[in-house]
Amino acid sequence: MALINEHYLKLQRSYLFADIAKKVNIFKVSHPKERLISLGIGDVTLPLCPAVIDAMHKAVDDMAVKEHFHGYGPEQGYLWLREAIVKNDFLTRGIHIDPSEVFVNDGAKGDTGNIGELVRWDNSMAVTDPIYPVYIDSNVMNGRAGTVNEHGEWSNVTYMPCNEQNAFVPRIPDHRVDMIYLCYPNNPTGTVITKSELRKWVNYAIRNDAVIFYDAAYEAYIQDDDIPHSIYEIKGARKVAIEFHSYSKTAGFTGIRCGYTIVPKELTASTLDGSRRLALNPLWNRHQCTKFNGVSYVSQRAAEAIYTAEGKQQVREQIAYYMGNARLMQQALTQLGFRVYGGVNAPYLWVKTPDGSTSWRFFEEMLYGAHVVCTPGVGFGPSGEGYVRLTSFGDRDDCLEAMERIAHWLKK
Ligand SMILES: *Cc1c(COP(=O)(O)O)cnc(C)c1O
Repeated sequence: MALINEHYLKLQRSYLFADIAKKVNIFKVSHPKERLISLGIGDVTLPLCPAVIDAMHKAVDDMAVKEHFHGYGPEQGYLWLREAIVKNDFLTRGIHIDPSEVFVNDGAKGDTGNIGELVRWDNSMAVTDPIYPVYIDSNVMNGRAGTVNEHGEWSNVTYMPCNEQNAFVPRIPDHRVDMIYLCYPNNPTGTVITKSELRKWVNYAIRNDAVIFYDAAYEAYIQDDDIPHSIYEIKGARKVAIEFHSYSKTAGFTGIRCGYTIVPKELTASTLDGSRRLALNPLWNRHQCTKFNGVSYVSQRAAEAIYTAEGKQQVREQIAYYMGNARLMQQALTQLGFRVYGGVNAPYLWVKTPDGSTSWRFFEEMLYGAHVVCTPGVGFGPSGEGYVRLTSFGDRDDCLEAMERIAHWLKK
């Protein structure tokens, strides 16, 4: 008899965005003529830039002729892409990464969800709260998270709240944990971490023999010069951190699928009896060779094109467009009296709901009052209660209209 993995049954009943879709559909059925503006789901809307499109066309042509056809590629990714990554994303910041430390993937979600396989199932874990749900849900599936209470907190997870009271700076745990998930610039709060704060985490990990999983999916949105783009800007991080990058938000690759993970050679973990320390890089290589067969040639050529002079310029323009949206939304909402966080170095705005309203209540009020869709903050973790997330990935005119609608709604 096949027995089910009962850890899956512990997962929250449904997915946050499915709940939102359900409520939006109810609205649509009762208001068939109204046009909703969604500032909810974190997906990009601009088409791929010309440099990427040209590279993809060329790659398709390669696949059409025998001499240039590509079958299975290297599991870790083509060397030309890994070399472009090393040169453009790291060397320019004074960080030395070897191409053998780069693992090209089909986007960051898979790797952030799978990376926990490298360490024992009973390792303890910590996350900032609120957070991208993948880090916790993937650990629920393998049994590491424990059981959930009525506030949505898992028994074996250390939560590090990020809220107005601590200016969204998480406190370092007062006990030791084995694995730490950090995401900066942060989804959902849009806040960033300074170098000196990040240094505290690296030092904590070194002292406690912990590993940091650092999700840098939004690093391209950083505008301020002194905010770190990579955890490897911090001395000692190569010994304790794995870093995830994605072209999804950087260059609109959500539908193309490409990203990469850095697993430095110096990063090690201990065997249970403490007799040996082993490098995680060869283990991750083994993981990828067993469970992954590489990213398509066309997608990798598309990613390579981002690093050409034209590609860099075109991607910068797309990011500037989204950050322009963020700025105008941030200004409009602040003027209306909202307390707004993020939106300066990230495409997300984290908005305090007025009058102590719950996330879901405010979501419904804005849906019915302004016909604007947001994401209830509590869907990202217990400390997200009392906030909603707005994204700046929409159309400029839609953002402007959404702000007008909200202003109009509040005046009523
Ligand atoms: C969007 C996102 C990713 C990237 O997902 P892909 O699988 O690369 O599309 C990773 N981490 C966070 C926090 C995200 O919001």
